[in-house]
Amino acid sequence: MRLPAFDYELPGNLDEALELLNTYGPNGKILAGGTDLLVRMKQGLALPTHLISLKALPELATIRESEVGLRIGAAVRLRDILTYPTLEDRVPGFFEAVSSIGAPSIQHFSGTIGGNLCQDNRCQFYNQSSFFRKARQPCNKAGGKTCYAWEGGSDKCYSVCQSDAAPVLMAMEAEVVVRSKQGERTMPLAELYSSVGERPLTLADDEMLTEIRVPNPGPGTGTAFEKLTYRSAIDYAVLSAGALVQTEGERITRARLVIGAVSRAPLGIPTAQNILQGRPPGDEEALDEAARAAANAAEAFIANNMAQPAEYRKQMVSVMAKRALSRALSRTGMTEAT
Ligand SMILES: Cc1cc2nc3c(=O)[nH]c(=O)nc-3n(C[C@H](O)[C@H](O)[C@H](O)COP(=O)(O)OP(=O)(O)OC[C@H]3O[C@@H](n4cnc5c(N)ncnc54)[C@H](O)[C@@H]3O)c2cc1C
Repeated sequence: MRLPAFDYELPGNLDEALELLNTYGPNGKILAGGTDLLVRMKQGLALPTHLISLKALPELATIRESEVGLRIGAAVRLRDILTYPTLEDRVPGFFEAVSSIGAPSIQHFSGTIGGNLCQDNRCQFYNQSSFFRKARQPCNKAGGKTCYAWEGGSDKCYSVCQSDAAPVLMAMEAEVVVRSKQGERTMPLAELYSSVGERPLTLADDEMLTEIRVPNPGPGTGTAFEKLTYRSAIDYAVLSAGALVQTEGERITRARLVIGAVSRAPLGIPTAQNILQGRPPGDEEALDEAARAAANAAEAFIANNMAQPAEYRKQMVSVMAKRALSRALSRTGMTEAT
């Protein structure tokens, strides 16, 4: 498969990049590491006329400390996150998520955290060659009127957000900074996702993610990420779960659970907080209850959008949710606070 023709733009500073995004609108695409975008272009799923590279923008490629946590530039490579001093001890769940992305080749050479959070949703009927897709009418995501992943068809797109970093960052209540020529806004990471399969991000065409703010977890807090895959590398998640749990004395005070790779956006399970708050850390029944709540919430979204059977994925949600919560809980005694 060959890449379609495009013009390569290499802005030398952020203002220039934002000007280019503003000029090209929907015809311009940000090129970070290219490990998601270039594959889609080869498959004819994205046909931008201009690629705006982030390669010459050092301001987006640094990790900085602030009083409240880490400020990670959107173009920071995954490798630089994994080798950042103390990150694994401070936020092991985030470290686990980044370690699980693709393979060392993607993490080391090109994949970025911004590209990971902004990658397009995937579906087994959509992420295919144009030869494969020509066998039937286009699906919703390809501009058609039905979804082949939903039995009997649907007017909604059931593609899946496959970002591994997103679930645990959402559980940690991370924020993102978004810039355009018009200005800057900061919002919870959860608000980056639209829950619309055809257009999964809430970013306008002229907007760019510039920074991810990862809060210090605080004393007595543990984080964890669980990912179910068939292989140990180069595999998108069949399912994933990100969790944060905080304890004080002998009680759970905060619990955040987000299920990944099941729906159009990472799926937050707010009932986990209601179920776990006030319960003792050793209360297995409470963890099972929260895990069942996750399975119930996820059920409505799981379709035949991946090669793995939907029924299997439905059954595995509570397993992955409980594993993530248990491991986060086991880490609440460790010093994650800075
Ligand atoms: C074989 C293979 C396996 C993979 N496995 C995984 C996996 O296990 N888990 C996983 O999560 N991902 C996986 N990926 C997807 C991808 O490699 C990673 O998510 C990677 O981190 C994407 O980063 P990138 O910099 O290469 O993104 P790019 O391809 O450069 O960009 C991805 C998308 O985000 C947009 N974008 C990039 N940066 C910004 C920004 N700052 N602001 C706004 N929009 C932006 C781009 O325009 C594009 O649409 C895999 C990819 C391949 C090819």
